[in-house]
Amino acid sequence: MKKAIYPGSFDPITNGHLDILSRAVKVFDEVIILVAVNPNKHFNFSPKERVEMIKEAVKDYPNVKVDYYDGLTVEYAKKHGATHLIRGLRAVSDFEYEFQLASANEYVDSTIDMVFFMARGDKSFISSSAIMELTNSGVDVSGLVPSSVIKRIKK
Ligand code: ADP
Repeated sequence: MKKAIYPGSFDPITNGHLDILSRAVKVFDEVIILVAVNPNKHFNFSPKERVEMIKEAVKDYPNVKVDYYDGLTVEYAKKHGATHLIRGLRAVSDFEYEFQLASANEYVDSTIDMVFFMARGDKSFISSSAIMELTNSGVDVSGLVPSSVIKRIKK
């Protein structure tokens, strides 16, 4: 059984993240979405809120689980029998960061490999920070995020 981890901040989850997930589940038997917990980083939503929004958004996928972790992703992957980490690539600027991340992960454990999906053209401008900026400016973002996020933002 091929298992992969899709790690990220998901602060909040967007339709861009969900598009990557919809393609990853066709390649892997099981995907675990792993929400980053980093006490040194400011997040808009708590780990619990982010997990809740994701769980509701992915409830129709039988082979997707959601979890959060405050350690190294590769360690989590190893512990849970996953062989690959999934990431998405939007612009060239993503590449530099992802390349660095892949190299650091390889240094920690070269048995865990990374798989990248290119952002779809119509989703490539979507980011969690853009969602928060647009929301704070009063723009309706319901076409860019799942309804679980809209519900939480309205609260
Ligand atoms: P991180 O802080 O770890 O980068 P993010 O939640 O911002 O977490 O992103 C998680 C992953 O999803 C990253 O690989 C990112 O490039 C990818 N991603 C985010 N938004 C999109 C999008 N609109 N299309 C494709 N991939 C995306």
